[in-house]
Amino acid sequence: MKPQHVVAVSLLRSDLMALRFGLAANQLHHTAPDAALFQWLRRSANGIRELGLELYTVGRTCNAIEASGLLKGYPGLIRYPYGREGGLMKLVARVTEYPDGTPPFDGAIYLIDPVDPSSIFPEALALKRQCITHGRPFISTLMGAIEWVEVERLLRGFQPDASLAPYFEFDQQCVALIAHDALKEQMVAFADKHFALLSKFASRVATGTTGSKLNELAWSKGWPADQQWVTPYLSGPLGGDAQIAELILEQNCQRVIFFEDPHVARQHEADIQLLERAVRVVTAEAACIASPAVADRWGQALSRLL
Ligand code: PGA
Repeated sequence: MKPQHVVAVSLLRSDLMALRFGLAANQLHHTAPDAALFQWLRRSANGIRELGLELYTVGRTCNAIEASGLLKGYPGLIRYPYGREGGLMKLVARVTEYPDGTPPFDGAIYLIDPVDPSSIFPEALALKRQCITHGRPFISTLMGAIEWVEVERLLRGFQPDASLAPYFEFDQQCVALIAHDALKEQMVAFADKHFALLSKFASRVATGTTGSKLNELAWSKGWPADQQWVTPYLSGPLGGDAQIAELILEQNCQRVIFFEDPHVARQHEADIQLLERAVRVVTAEAACIASPAVADRWGQALSRLL
């Protein structure tokens, strides 16, 4: 018998523009009826159908979606193996380019429960790392998943979904901006390009060194000399990541744009992970973007809402 995913892929192959995402959710996020996976589908199923988004979905998450009926009859729900059969490991490989030209996934949505041991299995960490390396979104929270479907809709010229407006009330939100050393210039370039969007936020925070560079940029662009554009916390390795994590946990910061360097050993790896885990603790209230390519797509899409 043909595996179900092969059948579904051939059905959709005619649409060369189709977006492909890997999808998984830890158990917490697909058990209760109001679990994050189902909240996401209630918000985003229409957008998923409009985009024809193909969802390559690991076993138990796929079972849960089928049982919920929230994507009933949708051919883009494509089954991947169970976690214990390597489903998540296959997702990792699929976010990379293959020499035979197989189209890679455009990103991965992995709704993470930070206290589920499988969320720190090597394949879970590698999925994030390969998404960053290949400039694809790695989405680990409910808010991030709702937001990303809207980002893709906006980039394709769909009208904004009015029911999602509360997620995009930038003047009620705080954004954190952090970049590892090799990516600081790219952070400055991102902030320069999307200065109008970032300036709409009620507040901006940053780790120490990143923050000083961003304030220099803002002043060079005419931001009042007696005001900081972004509030710098301590440098990341000295505790700045942990300070920003606390802001997130207290729901005083909703967005993290964190240009992570995946190619070096990081002395403060624990702090970096802590910050990402904090975002996942408040899964409905915060989202994290981890690479310049993804942040630029985010900025281009959301600038259309200004
Ligand atoms: P920095 O910290 O902005 O102070 O360099 C960033 C980090 O490494 O977390």
